[in-house]
Amino acid sequence: MSEHLSHSALLAWYAESKRDLPWRHTDDPWKILLSEILLQQTQVSRGIHYWQKLVERFPTPQSMADAEVDEVLHLWQGAGYYSRARRLHALSIQVCLSITEGGYDGSLPLTAPELLTLPGVGPYTAAAVASIAYGEPVACVDGNIRRVMARQSKRLDPSLKEVEAWANKVLYRDDAGDWNQALMELGATVCTPKRPLCGQCPVSSSCAGKSSPLLFPQPKKTKRKRLDLKCTLRFDANGLPELVQRGDDGILAGMWGPPMGDAIDVTGLEYVGIVEHTLSHRDIFVEVWHGSCPRGTEPSTVALSSLDRKILALGGE
Ligand code: SF4
Repeated sequence: MSEHLSHSALLAWYAESKRDLPWRHTDDPWKILLSEILLQQTQVSRGIHYWQKLVERFPTPQSMADAEVDEVLHLWQGAGYYSRARRLHALSIQVCLSITEGGYDGSLPLTAPELLTLPGVGPYTAAAVASIAYGEPVACVDGNIRRVMARQSKRLDPSLKEVEAWANKVLYRDDAGDWNQALMELGATVCTPKRPLCGQCPVSSSCAGKSSPLLFPQPKKTKRKRLDLKCTLRFDANGLPELVQRGDDGILAGMWGPPMGDAIDVTGLEYVGIVEHTLSHRDIFVEVWHGSCPRGTEPSTVALSSLDRKILALGGE
């Protein structure tokens, strides 16, 4: 059963088999935090690219706090979930306040509860940074760990509380950072959602679900939402598009793009076509309307989302 999950077998496997990821070569909590925030919703292969750009430009919280949020968004473009970039910038500013102002004098706080008070840091990120950077004995819970737990314990639909209780019970407190990473690595590379490699699993002896791993956990039924928008794609005489910065709320908050919304006036414009874009739980359909404007903006000078790039590509300019 799960309580007998072998620490030594999993840690030995992790030492031998872990992927060589750049943030695994640093003990700098800021750089580890950047990797964890990026990996929340960006695949590892793409996350590497963005992480390298971020640590190069913003090697410390102070370097980000000194920059405009637009520059962070610009670096983030294409990674999606842009609110993460905005919250990260807010976090850097808060961390760089003096202690009397409620900040941390430019260094990330040293414990999971303090990390949890920062913008954009949830229980997972706080536990990951505190355990990996500081060795704090706190358990992480993410989708990979939930899947390993469900299979090890033969649970169809474990609640967050149950997964947390399991993660705390199996935590190897003497090296919580490696332990948490090992469990997540197991879920990402061996105990995968569709093709679990039970024959190569270092902890198969304690796994109650290994004869039918695909039954656990039961897939969640997520209902996809459809979002229909309109967008005006206007170009100036030099072929530069009209680009505006979006407000602070919504899926593309703070990013730049052609004017877009659900009630945009398209009178007098020419219909171009529809751009489809998929986010995790949302299908977006954007009707694109073409026209002219007095003065456009060079797209490379502002932060554009993948959706906006698709719209501009449809305009063909
Ligand atoms: S034995 Fe199979 S199902 Fe169980 S933890 Fe290992 S890979 Fe996952």
